[in-house]
Amino acid sequence: MIIVLKPEATAETAREILDRISEKGLKPLHMPGSERVVLGALGDERVLAELALDSHPMVESLKPILAPYKLVSRELHPHDTVVRFGKTAIGGRGFSVIAGPCAVETRDQMRNTARFAKAAGAHGLRAGAFKPRTSPYAFQGHGVEGLKILRETGDEFGLPVVTEVMESADVGVVAEYADALQIGARNMQNYSLLKEVGRARKPVVLKRGMAAKVEDLLLAAEYLLAEGNEQVILCERGIRTFETATRNTLDLNAIPYIKQKTHLPVLVDPSHGTGVRDFVIPMALAAAACGADGILVEMHENPAVAWSDGAQSLYPDGFEQLMAALRPIAEAVGREIA
Ligand code: PEP
Ligand code: MN
Repeated sequence: MIIVLKPEATAETAREILDRISEKGLKPLHMPGSERVVLGALGDERVLAELALDSHPMVESLKPILAPYKLVSRELHPHDTVVRFGKTAIGGRGFSVIAGPCAVETRDQMRNTARFAKAAGAHGLRAGAFKPRTSPYAFQGHGVEGLKILRETGDEFGLPVVTEVMESADVGVVAEYADALQIGARNMQNYSLLKEVGRARKPVVLKRGMAAKVEDLLLAAEYLLAEGNEQVILCERGIRTFETATRNTLDLNAIPYIKQKTHLPVLVDPSHGTGVRDFVIPMALAAAACGADGILVEMHENPAVAWSDGAQSLYPDGFEQLMAALRPIAEAVGREIA
């Protein structure tokens, strides 16, 4: 419920209403604006009704938040959220490109890849140290050693770094080394991990689960915000459908939908979304055209020898082509690539 106070309402009135909301076991929200104070109450609608706020003399209007996700919804928060990622920002007018290999393999592989990424204009570096692999026999990542290499590489090239955290117990150590925590598709509905990451004071990239509806993604994001972490970036990375021609089906419908229903920035991952190098550039361009706030894309100094996801990783020259092709498209839809 959104509670708009009258312009003459005092700070004491706001406090009194917020206290009543808390006493009922509901979550109070305080959103002071330049013209008037807006309050929010989240929780059981029947309990909310008991507050009888419609008859409060200082309440101008009450508006229910119809979406099942509340904090994430544009109804509650009409303006776009811009998330800081190192020195860059995700959301707003800029279009962000976060690039890097699927996994941290070696120091040289990371440095060479980051050098190319930076030279071509990437804003951030991605790479997994904890890898959720479909097969238990596949490379699982270097763990903390990988985090250290990623951090050093990011610092050397002036790129903020994002990497996946797979378990609640690792949130602390990943937050120590990374500028943003990634929650992977396989963990999108791992609610204890979501709560733990929600308590971390670090930006989060939350990927859509491969069998998750957009609403499931937004409710997963709600867990992060409900724990107090508002620095959430969503990521569409393709879903499983009956189509098997490509690794996943990149659901670009989700982008305008998410932009309309929520205030959170959203990235597209055309690498996992297609699984095919040749399709990464066209789908990245489509992502920019349909209103995404950026892309998370796999590139490798030499994908032919990549330890994972080589088939969908761009070569450095492909990444350069992508950056050149993105600029006019971003501009055509009113965005700029810094
Ligand atoms: C990744 O980005 O490295 C990754 C594992 O992606 P997803 O969780 O989308 O499969
Ligand atoms: Mn990958």
